[in-house]
Amino acid sequence: MAKIAFIGLGNMGGPMAVNLVKAGHDVTVFDLVPAAVQAAVAEGAQSADSAEAAATSKDFVISMLPAQQHVEGLYIDQAGLLDIVDKNTVIIDSSTIAAESAQRVAAEADKRGIKMVDAPVSGGVGGAKAGTLSFIVGGSAEAFEQVKPILEAMGKNIFHAGDSGAGQVAKVCNNMLLAILMAGTTEAIGMGVKNGLDPAVLSDIMSKSSGNNWALQVYNPYPGVMDTAPASNDYQGGFMVDLMAKDLGLAFDSAVKSRCSIPMGSMARNLFAMHAANGNGSLDFSSIQKMFADLD
Ligand code: NAD
Repeated sequence: MAKIAFIGLGNMGGPMAVNLVKAGHDVTVFDLVPAAVQAAVAEGAQSADSAEAAATSKDFVISMLPAQQHVEGLYIDQAGLLDIVDKNTVIIDSSTIAAESAQRVAAEADKRGIKMVDAPVSGGVGGAKAGTLSFIVGGSAEAFEQVKPILEAMGKNIFHAGDSGAGQVAKVCNNMLLAILMAGTTEAIGMGVKNGLDPAVLSDIMSKSSGNNWALQVYNPYPGVMDTAPASNDYQGGFMVDLMAKDLGLAFDSAVKSRCSIPMGSMARNLFAMHAANGNGSLDFSSIQKMFADLD
């Protein structure tokens, strides 16, 4: 069993760290929010007073942070974990950040003889709790083989997308598609409801017809249709609008750099940016439904 430091115990990181504990690993956790640390300790993790203390003398350091400034801050700026971890520690960053940022941190790790992979995830909070996430890994084949057994304690599908940064490229493509599908799903349900349909009946019809997609299957955006979805919990928990807006910004930057046309992704980016600007940034991203239905 491995000695693992886990940094960042939010909606995703909290349940991911608990699954590592359940798999029998020796897990030391750190988060800026004490309540998040206490929740993991209650499930059998050990706490540390700082990221540095958590990461000392570990086989693996895993981070699950909001955005690239937090990741770069942790590894190379303020905390500078790359300067304190053992040379044989393998670093796994599962945050969704720009591929260039992941490559920058991995290159700094490489200069110090430390292996690092980007391993963003898909599957949402439900997948994090159930241990069924998809991990999309960017890094060397050797590093991939080392991290795979650890990731298998938290996920079902472990993909090797390519070299450093490739995990983030694939993740951003996926989330751009997810945003488009969620926005389209809420628009369709909104129109159905305004024309007299029951949202649950319409959702059932579309989930068994050609409009079927992940939102309809496990993450219905209309309140009351699916008990387990954030929509039925006042859009609390889940995947914040601000984080989806961040991912769509990453998609937009990537499209500009690679001279790709992303008309649907650009539309989705504008919709989620407007939704965030209207005060919904900390709600789950399925709350975009509010734009297309009179919910309040
Ligand atoms: P979150 O905001 O719920 O959690 C982030 C956690 O990081 C918070 O608890 C925060 O206190 C902590 N943190 C921030 N800076 C820190 C630091 N310097 N040291 C220690 N802890 C620090 O976010 P989340 O929903 O868990 O998402 C995390 C990442 O995973 C994001 O990059 C997001 O885009 C990605 N992601 C989220 C989902 C989802 O469904 N929520 C799905 C896939 C990927």
